[in-house]
Amino acid sequence: MTDELRHHWTLHLLDEDSARHEAQLAKHPDQRKAHETRLAAARKTLAANAAQSAEAQKQRRVLEQEIAAFDTAQARFQQQLERVTDQKQFEAVQHEIAAVRAKRSDVETAALELLDREEGLAAANPTLAHALEKAENDAAVVFLTLDTEAAKLNAELAALAAKRADAVALLDAPARSLYERLRGLRGGRAVAAFERGACGACFRTQPPVALQEARRRQRLLACDGCGRLLMLAPEDGAAE
Ligand SMILES: [Zn+2]
Repeated sequence: MTDELRHHWTLHLLDEDSARHEAQLAKHPDQRKAHETRLAAARKTLAANAAQSAEAQKQRRVLEQEIAAFDTAQARFQQQLERVTDQKQFEAVQHEIAAVRAKRSDVETAALELLDREEGLAAANPTLAHALEKAENDAAVVFLTLDTEAAKLNAELAALAAKRADAVALLDAPARSLYERLRGLRGGRAVAAFERGACGACFRTQPPVALQEARRRQRLLACDGCGRLLMLAPEDGAAE
């Protein structure tokens, strides 16, 4: 195998490694987002429960004030009842008392319904708080794992970039510029390996004569399909 081919192969392996690391890093935002969404939903549900509970309590306080006002009115009518002098006045005040009682009863029913509602919301609260706590714990574990993985991937990418700088310097200027141009145009992969008679990147089957040529390992070929530089791995399997 010529040095030129060997240098291309070295670069190819480094770039494939970098591409794999980049692809792994690119998945992180989605993996974070799934947990952030779950966290936001759990916080929202818990907050909604608290808000509904506070609202029901507020409404119940208003109704309790109304009940107190009805009690005051009823006491006043009872006093009037003791002072009435004829049957007609007596019946009129009795009528007022009955009306106040009826209204008080309605309001009291509504207040009890609100109390029921508050109790239901309070009963649901621990489950919701627990769900949020679990979401927070799960997210913390995942975020820590992702942070650790990202730090490792970035360190490996930096190491690969340093090796790459050395490897790219071994190509002559025209070869380097062709390699970098192809790499830019072809999703970070300038070189493809021959795999079962086809391009390992775009999978286009190559003419048999190309495979024979590749086996000689004397010059770089171009894929018919994607235009990438096409070659067989070194026979010794080594990168350099
Ligand atoms: Zn191809």
